[in-house]
Amino acid sequence: MRLYNTLNKKIEEFIPREEKKVKMYTCGPTVYHYAHIGNLRTYISEDILEKSLKYLGYDVTRVMNITDVGHLVGDGDSGEDKMLVAAKREHKSSWEVAKYYTDCFKKDCERLNIKWPSIVSPATDNIDEYIKIISKLLDDGYAYISDGNVYYDTSRYQDYYHLSGRNADDLIVAVREDIKEDTSKRNPFDFGLWFTNSKFNNQEMQWDSPWGRGYPGWHIECSGISIKYLGEYLDIHCGAEDAIFPHHTNEIAQSEAYLGHKWCNYWVHFGFLNDKNGKMSKSNGEFLTVDLLVEKGYNPLAYRYLCLNSYYHNALTFSYEILDGASREYDKLKRRVANLSNDGDINQTKLQEYHDKFGSNLENDLNTSSCITLLYDVLKDNTINDKTKREIICDFEKVLSLDLFTFENTSLDINLKNYIEKMIEKRSIYKKEKNFEEADKIRKELMDKGIMIKDTREGTVYEVIR
Ligand code: AMP
Ligand code: ZN
Repeated sequence: MRLYNTLNKKIEEFIPREEKKVKMYTCGPTVYHYAHIGNLRTYISEDILEKSLKYLGYDVTRVMNITDVGHLVGDGDSGEDKMLVAAKREHKSSWEVAKYYTDCFKKDCERLNIKWPSIVSPATDNIDEYIKIISKLLDDGYAYISDGNVYYDTSRYQDYYHLSGRNADDLIVAVREDIKEDTSKRNPFDFGLWFTNSKFNNQEMQWDSPWGRGYPGWHIECSGISIKYLGEYLDIHCGAEDAIFPHHTNEIAQSEAYLGHKWCNYWVHFGFLNDKNGKMSKSNGEFLTVDLLVEKGYNPLAYRYLCLNSYYHNALTFSYEILDGASREYDKLKRRVANLSNDGDINQTKLQEYHDKFGSNLENDLNTSSCITLLYDVLKDNTINDKTKREIICDFEKVLSLDLFTFENTSLDINLKNYIEKMIEKRSIYKKEKNFEEADKIRKELMDKGIMIKDTREGTVYEVIR
C-alpha cells in the first residue's frame, strides 16, 4: 500500500513494523461542541483508511482519544480550557458537557457509517500515564518547571521542526496569535505538559500530581494514550492537516524524548473541508452539523459519498449545490443497486477480478474516487449477471459503507420523507394564505433536490425524479 507520509513529504510504500499488523492512532474530538461536517470529513477519511487496510488483509488495532480536558482556546496554551468555556456557556459542569458532546459525536459517527475504533479513551481516564511520562521528561532534562507549571523544552529536541517542514521564524509568523500569552515559557514553542492552579485557578477538572493539583496539557494525552494502549511503536498516526503543528509536532517531541527512539513511521494528514470563507470552523460561517443536514432533508451518507469522491489529502470545498449533486447521484446509485435481481450463479472469477481492482485503487494512496468509478463499471458490465454484481458491490461496501442495499425502509429515507411532507404542508399553508411567492419558493427548493410535486384532487403528491 502506498500512502502520503507527511514525515517525508511524499507518497511511500507502507510497511508496518510487524508483518500485516497495523497499530493506528487517530486524534479524537474535543468534546466542547457539536462536530461540524469538516471535523467529520477527517473521521470519515480515518474510517476509510482503517477499512481499506482491513480490506487489504491487515490486522488493524486502532485507538482514539476523546479530548475532555486540556485543550485550551489557543493551540499554543493561551486562553482557558475549551471545556470550561463550554461549561460556562451551557451552565453545566465540564463533565456534563463532555458526556453530552461525546454522545453526539458517537451518533454522528453512526449516521455516517464511521466505525467506532476498537479502543476509545477519554483523556481524563489516563492521568497516571501522563504523570509517569512527565516525571521522566523532567528527570531527563526535557522538561522544566516554571511558575508552578511543567513545560516541555523544545530547544532540547533536535528534530523539532521536521514534521512541519518549516523553520522557527516561519512558524512564529504563522501562529503569532497563539503563542503570545504565556510568559512562563523559555522558548516560544515550549508547551504545557501539566498546568497547576497558578495558571488557571478556575479549572474544574483537576488531579493531584507531584507538581501540585492541576491538569494535563492537550498534547501529552495523545502520547500517553497511544503508548498505554499500543506500546512503544506506532505504525500510523492520523489527523487533519492543522494538527501537524503544533499538536503532532509536540506529540513526536515528547514521545521520542520519553521512549528514547523513533515512535511512529507514517503520519497521514487529511485535507480540510472549506466553505466560501475558507476552512470550515465552528466560529466562522454556517455551523454545519449532521443534524442540520438531516433537518434539511439530506441523507448523511450522501455527504460520505461526496467525501469519497475526493482525494483525502486535498481540500474539499463544500456548497449546497455540490451536496445536491452528490445526493442526486447517490440516490440514483442506490436505486440502480436496489433493482439488481438475485437470480443466477455468482461468477467467482469476475468477483475476484473486481476485488483485486478495488484493492489496487485503495493501495494507490486511497484512491476512493477510482473506487466509485469502478462501482459504476460493475453496474455497466454486460458480461456479468445481477447476482454477481450484487456480490461485488457487497464486497466494495466493506470499505465504502454507503448502505447501498438499503434503499427502502431506512431511517434516512424516512428523514427525506419527513422533510418532503413538512415542506408540502408548509406550502399548502402558504397557498391558503394566498402567499404564492413563498409557495413557489418551496416548489423550487424541492425541484432543486430532484423532487417534483403535483397538486391533485386528492392533495399534493410527489415523485423523486433524480
Ligand atoms: P476538534 O474537535 O476541534 O479537536 O477537531 C477535531 C478534528 O477535526 C481535528 O483533527 C481538526 O484538525 C479537524 N478539523 C477541524 N476543522 C476542520 C475542517 N474544516 N476540515 C477538516 N478537518 C477539520
Ligand atoms: Zn492528538
